[in-house]
Amino acid sequence: MTWRDEAACRGANPEIFFLGYGPGRGLGRLSKTAKARALELCDRCPVVDVCLEYALSLPATGDFGIWGGTTEKQRVGLRKARRQHQPPRSGRTLQEAASM
Ligand code: SF4
Repeated sequence: MTWRDEAACRGANPEIFFLGYGPGRGLGRLSKTAKARALELCDRCPVVDVCLEYALSLPATGDFGIWGGTTEKQRVGLRKARRQHQPPRSGRTLQEAASM
């Protein structure tokens, strides 16, 4: 059993999360109604945090639709905020830092 088995959207129409879902169909913008329905499901989803982390682990270029209660635009902001809060890399190894 995986987190997807517990998803509130399990069995829901994928088109409310991903407009153009299906082979050979282009991507477009979700309607406000579809987006609201998807976000409503996410609101009561027991695995919303896991789902969001999964989405954020995907390459940004292939990330679209509603995941973890967020829109693509919101995830762009989350990725940016996370990058800004990462500690700077010093270029030293842990051993070098420990011996100082
Ligand atoms: S958070 Fe939303 S998209 Fe993710 S599994 Fe739950 S209902 Fe589906």
